[in-house]
Amino acid sequence: MRLLVVEDEVKTGDYLRTGLTEAGFLVDLARNGLDGHHLAMTESFDLIVLDVMLPDVDGWRIIKSLREADNTTPVLFLTARDSVDDRVKGLELGADDYLVKPFAFAELLARVRTLLRRGLTSAMAEHLEIADLVLDLPRRRVTRAGVRINLTTREFSLLELMVRRKGEVLPRSLIASQVWDMNFDSDTNVIDVAIRRLRVKIDEPYSLKLIHTVRGMGYQLDIMNDT
Ligand code: CA
Repeated sequence: MRLLVVEDEVKTGDYLRTGLTEAGFLVDLARNGLDGHHLAMTESFDLIVLDVMLPDVDGWRIIKSLREADNTTPVLFLTARDSVDDRVKGLELGADDYLVKPFAFAELLARVRTLLRRGLTSAMAEHLEIADLVLDLPRRRVTRAGVRINLTTREFSLLELMVRRKGEVLPRSLIASQVWDMNFDSDTNVIDVAIRRLRVKIDEPYSLKLIHTVRGMGYQLDIMNDT
């Protein structure tokens, strides 16, 4: 993972470079806005840590240029002022997160890791697959063995949850809160009914069953040989 740090304060720049290098990242350090702008626009990074108060080209300008060029590299900006305006401005310009100086290095590292993880997830999240079942998330379409399956919005959400957490036993209460946005009421069998309908659509015509009932616990989507 290659990171760009743009920071004009010598001590802070050195501290960030050392800390991030020790945490296992490859770090390029730009000590002014002009170099930072140039590097950000011409080289490829997994994430940019960007001080906004720079004497020449400021951080706002750098974020703006990046986003105007459709560069989606995650940007964590550092602001010395604890000003709501600054934070709003940074996020509006397309930054992904911010930290107010002074900050603890551990917090910066946690934010960096979260942003990198989020980037990986969204890059891979266009399609979810298990066996021959494919969910096309942007189009909200499902196919199995290449055949389109029509699901209701709720059924799609239910299936998406199960595929994202494949292999896990999902209690009804969790399914209720995630898919129905409600607290589980033990009298309702709405989840069992929905699972049954989903099974008819995605499992019944196929020999390999994906949805499994775990008695007394909930439901699980997985590739298993028993049913
Ligand atoms: Ca500065």
